[in-house]
Amino acid sequence: MTTVAAALTAARGKLPAGEARLLLGHVLQRPAAWLLAHDDFPLGEDAMLAFASLVARRAGGEPVAYLVGYREFFGRRFAVTPATLIPRPETELLVDLAIGKVGAGSTASILDLGTGSGCIAISLALELPAARLTGVDFSALALEVARANTLALAADVCLRQSDWFAALDGERYDVIVGNPPYVAAADPHLGRGDLRHEPLTALASGGDGLDAIRRIVATAPRFLKPGGALLLEHGHDQGPTVRELMMAAGFGKLAQHRDLGGIPRVTSGIFGDETSGCTSADRIDAEEQVRQRKEKQ
Ligand code: GLN
Repeated sequence: MTTVAAALTAARGKLPAGEARLLLGHVLQRPAAWLLAHDDFPLGEDAMLAFASLVARRAGGEPVAYLVGYREFFGRRFAVTPATLIPRPETELLVDLAIGKVGAGSTASILDLGTGSGCIAISLALELPAARLTGVDFSALALEVARANTLALAADVCLRQSDWFAALDGERYDVIVGNPPYVAAADPHLGRGDLRHEPLTALASGGDGLDAIRRIVATAPRFLKPGGALLLEHGHDQGPTVRELMMAAGFGKLAQHRDLGGIPRVTSGIFGDETSGCTSADRIDAEEQVRQRKEKQ
């Protein structure tokens, strides 16, 4: 008879101990911490085989989140599948900023672009119970996962299939948020670690990684109420360009926000706010810079 301790010992050398505990806990439907106090708990043959298979798949590179089927985000458990990006801790910044922008008790209408597992929209719906949340994704498979998450977490989010704004007609929102794909198509990171198993359409976006962001920034003004806010997550070195793009599109009060690692990760701006800090001269300057960059490409 194998025990918890023996199974974890057998996985040593193949996986870090924490991952092995997480996978065994998943097989036994117990928290990983439970295992620490139950070294001599006996494992049946089915559990052994299931654990061995998960260890082999993890050692072969499959993300832990896909193997166990969930990832924690903003203090809650979200189902994930290979049809969705795995929620990242740095994306919690986007949720925090959106909450800060509208304030608790807000009745704002908020749109989440490329909602994936729904982790951003659902977190906002649960933190801002009076707000109205819409999440769009072009992937029907991702929307199924998002729908399952809204049901499991009892969140009220309107989910719609849409290629960014394409299926939204005439609606205007107080806030638009998004964690769009922003990795450059040739970035070697796409061939490493978890990213190899995640949907490429949720990660990569053209030669400089900014195709989706350019489209979103250019279109967002038509879907924002006057004074509405756009908050976008982006890559560690894309802050200055996203700022320029937003200025060129008429956003003001631009601000860049650092994630817990100190990396500028989210740029925010307000549209059509006459009191904005962005002068029309700034705007023209930024437009000119974007034009010059395009010419060089
Ligand atoms: N932050 C992710 C990564 O670099 C990318 C997510 C995205 O493209 N939206 O792993």
